[in-house]
Amino acid sequence: MESDVCSHVRVVVRVRPTTEREKTENCRSVVQVVDNHMLIFDPKEEDASCFGSQRVRNKNINKRANKDLKFVFDQVFGEESTQDDLFEGTTKAVLDGVMNGFNCTVFAYGATGAGKTHTMLGAQNDPGVMYRTMTELFKRMEDAKEEKEFTVAFSYFEVYNEQIRDLLANIGPLAVREDSSKGVVVQGLTLHKPKSAAHILEALDSGNRNRTQHPTDMNANSSRSHAVFQIYLRQQDKTASLNPNACVAKLSLIDLAGSERASATNAKAARLREGANINKSLLALGNVINALADPKNKKTHIPYRDSKLTRLLKDSLGGNCRTVMIANVSPSSKSYDDTHNTLKYANRAKEI
Ligand code: ADP
Ligand code: MG
Repeated sequence: MESDVCSHVRVVVRVRPTTEREKTENCRSVVQVVDNHMLIFDPKEEDASCFGSQRVRNKNINKRANKDLKFVFDQVFGEESTQDDLFEGTTKAVLDGVMNGFNCTVFAYGATGAGKTHTMLGAQNDPGVMYRTMTELFKRMEDAKEEKEFTVAFSYFEVYNEQIRDLLANIGPLAVREDSSKGVVVQGLTLHKPKSAAHILEALDSGNRNRTQHPTDMNANSSRSHAVFQIYLRQQDKTASLNPNACVAKLSLIDLAGSERASATNAKAARLREGANINKSLLALGNVINALADPKNKKTHIPYRDSKLTRLLKDSLGGNCRTVMIANVSPSSKSYDDTHNTLKYANRAKEI
């Protein structure tokens, strides 16, 4: 695997498997994974006709031409990729940064139904990145316990309609404040000490039940909020008693709200404002990541203040922070526009 010491924004794409429903509806696949780094969106259809026989379905002259767009990313995870592949290829390396005292952030981006929650949270019997990260963190703390003293805590909150709500205490809205020594602080947010890996699974699960959810026409379980899981790691040298070198690092694992446009979900008036705010945070996030990823832009203004989400992450993006963007896409022709938009967003984020 490539080392990512120079690039601080890693962009990967995960293509989820075709669902049973998509199979029965005869949707065509619009994503072709070429290798670990490349995929083709809307590939040219191979002329499968042998011996020169005419294919009837290609005769549809109204059919639009295939876009056949090649995209290259730091890594591409195909339909058969496992939760462990995702963890190994994304957050595991980020933990090195956290252990070295740097704030790091991992996002799951994509339209509703593209696999964000599956990637980050996962299922009870097949947990995702959040749980695997905690398990690995416990292991690393155990390995280094002779030299260092660790304190770890976590919080879980959502940003919904530009308001912050604690998912573990079910309270909100909470205010964001910038502290000169502590960095960005959410006032009144509850911090929890993990007792075990299982305890974290439980906390994530119960926190998720507190998420603000509104059924839309596209997906009854769609989540319209950004869910932010933060892990705070404080470490102190045990050996150097005169100079204990205490430092705190923050790891943010974020299941973003669906990126589809409000119009695409046939949203009613009440949902429109919500949609605008969701897009505001996602747009602001894209702008911040672009500004950070562009070397010519290093000295100029980074627009953190443009949304709640980017204000929250001001101390966790840029500088020495490591950032991974996991762009989740569906391979189905039913999600043609969403997949295309997600790939374009991800492609813009990776230009370094
Ligand atoms: P999102 O959070 O982006 O709206 P979900 O994670 O809820 O999407 O995924 C939509 C559906 O697809 C869920 O039923 C989920 O279990 C399933 N799914 C998503 N990704 C995968 C995957 N990699 N493997 C198997 N099932 C998946
Ligand atoms: Mg979800």
